[in-house]
Amino acid sequence: MKNLNHLLRPNILSLKPYSSARDEFHGEASVFLDANENPYNHPYNRYPDPMQRELKQRISEVKDLAPEYIFVGNGSDEAIDLVMRAFCRPDMDHIVTITPSYGMYEVAAHINQVQCIKAPLSADFQLSADAVLDAVDAYTKVVYLCSPNNPTGNLLDRGEIYRIIKYFPGIVVVDEAYIDFASADSLARQLLGFPRLIVLQTLSKAWGAAGIRLGMAFASPQIIAVLNKIKYPYNVNRPAQEYALNLLSREEEMKEQLQRILCERSRVEEALKSLPFVRHVYPSDANFILVRVDNANETYRYLVEQKVIVRNRHSVALCQDCLRITIGTSEENHLLLHALRGMRP
Ligand SMILES: *Cc1c(COP(=O)(O)O)cnc(C)c1O
Repeated sequence: MKNLNHLLRPNILSLKPYSSARDEFHGEASVFLDANENPYNHPYNRYPDPMQRELKQRISEVKDLAPEYIFVGNGSDEAIDLVMRAFCRPDMDHIVTITPSYGMYEVAAHINQVQCIKAPLSADFQLSADAVLDAVDAYTKVVYLCSPNNPTGNLLDRGEIYRIIKYFPGIVVVDEAYIDFASADSLARQLLGFPRLIVLQTLSKAWGAAGIRLGMAFASPQIIAVLNKIKYPYNVNRPAQEYALNLLSREEEMKEQLQRILCERSRVEEALKSLPFVRHVYPSDANFILVRVDNANETYRYLVEQKVIVRNRHSVALCQDCLRITIGTSEENHLLLHALRGMRP
């Protein structure tokens, strides 16, 4: 792709990356005296594989995507930041994202001294390609989208996403942290046709492993090579790689939990609709529900007293008087609904 080099920051394009002992020799040998590791405390005395080869092979099988299309990082948050650092010159370039959405895109932009311009979603939280394209200028390098979106829970319109990819000449990131809960396929299936698309996924949600910090980016091999060039050499630690490898071979277990969560989602959705102070329950393609109530601050405080913690989104754009409620186990959801039914008007 000719214009990828043109989009990259010049210092990243010309960067000579750090070369670790494990980059210079990887393979079978009987004596490893090249990395100043301690010979005791096997296996954690050894640095992890910097390129996560075995793990990427497993991800490749689960996602049906060649390993060259896969980046593995310390949570999706690492990929969000690396993409910004690869493409956006501090104090000069911009990103465009949607509002309301996940707060990390803006925070990462501000850490990198990159201006973040926000295009509003419609009143029913749908994406308008025109609103995003209107916010784009000559300095916009990356557009960050999130589908299903957080905190609204809905899938963004596929046709509008395609229009942005078609007319915006920079990088389009689509964060699919919640895609396994959704009634739509991943955009990762379309990477061959879209060389400037980056799809983010994670083990933190459907796979139930937020604690190990493992995120994935899927993109053209040229983009993946750039992310690998600028990441910390050992960005995914050995216990996380081992745990993820094992977890990804238990897909049926994940699907079973997923079904239980989806079942609970419909039950909670119906129960919320029957409460007198609930004004609207937004349809969800994720493992949480956004709900508009008469008074979100009051409802939030009441739930805290009842020892049930939800997320108050009252102060977020277009989310006035909205609470974001994660779907828990049936017992946890029962306790939430029981508490809400006992709330005095
Ligand atoms: C939870 C979430 C993530 C996950 O981030 P990790 O760093 O992989 O845990 C990513 N994007 C969105 C929109 C999320 O809500």
